[in-house]
Amino acid sequence: MSCSYWDSDALLSADFVVVGAGLIGLQIALELRALRPRDRIIVLERGVVPSGASSRNAGFACFGSLTEILADLDLIGEDRVLETIERRWSGLQRLRRRVPDAAMRYEPAGGNELFSQSDLPAIERLDEVNRLLKPLFGRAVFSRDDDAIGRAGFGRTFALLRNPLEGQLHSGMLMGELARLARLENIEIRTGATVLAIHEEGKKVDLRIAVSEQNQISMSAGRVVVCTNGFTANLFPEAGIVPARGQILVTAPVPDLRWRGTYHMEQGFYYFRNLGNRILLGGGRHLAMQEEATDEMVVTPDIQDALVRLLRQVVLPDHEVAIDYRWAGIMGFSADRMPQVRMLSPRVALGFGCNGMGVALGAQVAAELAALISSGP
Ligand SMILES: Cc1cc2nc3c(=O)[nH]c(=O)nc-3n(C[C@H](O)[C@H](O)[C@H](O)COP(=O)(O)OP(=O)(O)OC[C@H]3O[C@@H](n4cnc5c(N)ncnc54)[C@H](O)[C@@H]3O)c2cc1C
Repeated sequence: MSCSYWDSDALLSADFVVVGAGLIGLQIALELRALRPRDRIIVLERGVVPSGASSRNAGFACFGSLTEILADLDLIGEDRVLETIERRWSGLQRLRRRVPDAAMRYEPAGGNELFSQSDLPAIERLDEVNRLLKPLFGRAVFSRDDDAIGRAGFGRTFALLRNPLEGQLHSGMLMGELARLARLENIEIRTGATVLAIHEEGKKVDLRIAVSEQNQISMSAGRVVVCTNGFTANLFPEAGIVPARGQILVTAPVPDLRWRGTYHMEQGFYYFRNLGNRILLGGGRHLAMQEEATDEMVVTPDIQDALVRLLRQVVLPDHEVAIDYRWAGIMGFSADRMPQVRMLSPRVALGFGCNGMGVALGAQVAAELAALISSGP
């Protein structure tokens, strides 16, 4: 579809185009606005609502459970683990300054980790991890609270660790509030706009955009920020970000639910929380790593059955409860598990950070990325 003069001159050009309206995309647009009050900033999103991870996640405002941190220590070492946790923690504080707790229903209900018998040896490293984190938090983060297992009625659980610093929030309300703040700041969000290609030429960047199955249009920008998370390989395969599907279910309300807060298991591969009196339960990707390395946003019977088994055996044993919602979302993973805030070319930047845990980290990555791209040519 060819563009009119009016389109090209006024509607389809911007100083900054952000691709992807997830947590990072919307927050980078807000950060850029603070740095560039007069610039035209447009966010392009392929879905009618953000359609990646940010509105399909579990809403844990977390920075890592004991077994996740131990797995990361083995993979990337102490310095990089500490750096990532520090960025997550400062991201969470930044997010809470931007969005009032009530507007995203943030609840500092605390986080927990459940240990099966085979996971118990990890607890021997509790003191080591607490010592490691003490300079960051000024206190021991994880403590044992095995009595809580009986109070909550969990099955097949041999130990429970508590982390009072973790919280949970309502991801839909958070994304709605970020979009509202963006509109207030005169940031244009265009939905139904799938970016097909990005080419830097001279002092501008051209974007090819699909607006329907048959129709494409072009847009030009001074600079472009790519925040497409698990879909980045469609635009920049060389960026090395691979997709990973995460699946979730939510139960019908459970009368007299005996616990509150967020819960992790098995290095974060399983997680659950309360949503009022409902239970949100997700994970299971480790049961089928290859099949789940996809950006196809559908649920599968095998993983959903595994989640239901976990619900019946551990989370809510001996109760029958209906499942009201099931969905999938797409995460992105980098090979070294580190956030990526970098220029792909002089006028195109990549903002990726989250490796499956972006609620807290997103605000920090957005701030770092805005500083990087606005200081460019
Ligand atoms: C099931 C699940 C549970 C999770 N639970 C948690 C949790 O409890 N706590 C936590 O911290 N993290 C969690 N995460 C991870 C967290 O949601 C992500 O790290 C975070 O949302 C990433 O934000 P983002 O902006 O980088 O990416 P996304 O939210 O994925 O945003 C990318 C956006 O780009 C759009 N897009 C992609 N390609 C194009 C294109 N070509 N053109 C235009 N638009 C495009 C997508 O539609 C999408 O809206 C979970 C993720 C999943 C999938």
